[in-house]
Amino acid sequence: MASIAFKRVSKAFDKHEVIKDLDLTIEDGKFTVLVGPSGCGKTTLLRMIAGLDPQTSGSVLIGGKDVSRIAPGKRGVAMVFQNYAIYPTMSVRENIEFGLVNNKVRKAEREELVEGISKAVGLYEYLERKPSTLSGGQRQRVALARAMVKKPSVFLMDEPLSNLDAKLRVQMRIELIELHKKLGATFVYVTHDQVEAMSMADTIVLMNKGVIQQEAPPDEMYRRPSNRFTAQFIGTPPMNVGELGESGSLFGFRPESAVLSEAQGDEPFSVRGVIATREMLGSETIYQVRSGSGNYMVKCSEDLFAAGQEVYVGVPAAKLHFFGEDERRI
Ligand code: ADP
Ligand code: MG
Repeated sequence: MASIAFKRVSKAFDKHEVIKDLDLTIEDGKFTVLVGPSGCGKTTLLRMIAGLDPQTSGSVLIGGKDVSRIAPGKRGVAMVFQNYAIYPTMSVRENIEFGLVNNKVRKAEREELVEGISKAVGLYEYLERKPSTLSGGQRQRVALARAMVKKPSVFLMDEPLSNLDAKLRVQMRIELIELHKKLGATFVYVTHDQVEAMSMADTIVLMNKGVIQQEAPPDEMYRRPSNRFTAQFIGTPPMNVGELGESGSLFGFRPESAVLSEAQGDEPFSVRGVIATREMLGSETIYQVRSGSGNYMVKCSEDLFAAGQEVYVGVPAAKLHFFGEDERRI
């Protein structure tokens, strides 16, 4: 098993610096999710761990050892990509075995490994099939099994579920969490989807423009966002953020933390407005309230108001967040 560390790592493509002076420690055996908007540098970070793209400066350590001069195949890491590169002409068994054949593993040992791993990911019955006869989820499992057979201490996954439909994605998330428990290896999982990050991570590392914004377990990321970017990236709809009167500093509250009422309540934050839009989603309704001080999103479990109705938006003191003025630049 292995921890991963970045020490003052920068990465530039030509003169364009996409990772800036990054320090990060990824704990051994944890499920760490790197999340952030498209183009923020997540794939670049993974490729530096794998050794596919060396850093421009700084060092990358795996298991405490500087791997800067170690070839990708010798780092003890396996990478699973979004377009799960599996070979269409090979059977499931041949696909899984592929990594082993290259490593000159004996036939008996190979068969035992393939049997064990295919059982672990639910592919045992499908070993002789061609990938084209499998579902998207099963094909994704072939890619996983092919990574697993090399017994890496680190699994790197780059948006591995983004080609699957919504229902399957949810199921695969659960399977990956279980697989992580079973293997006890270090998982580094990249996604741009904050829901995926929240549901799977032991630790979330949130990036923007090549810079880490916050590193925390999901509940802390949600309850104590360190800045405006984090506050608005995690949670849907995003946190409402407004300016505080004359000071110009920022405050915020989550759509699910506000209460709507016809009469003014005694919350410290209370504004009168009109419901501009109402979106009924079944188990919840999302209202957009237009007020003199701005528009606010409010998420309610009951659908009690109609568009055009006058309401008060109230927020209890404990649910208000405050951000420093410097956060406005993020
Ligand atoms: P993410 O995976 O978060 O979407 P990437 O790590 O792929 O982001 O990309 C980060 C930035 O680096 C982007 O601006 C992208 O255009 C740039 N980039 C990535 N790979 C290359 C490359 N091989 N050559 C030039 N620029 C690249
Ligand atoms: Mg990417």
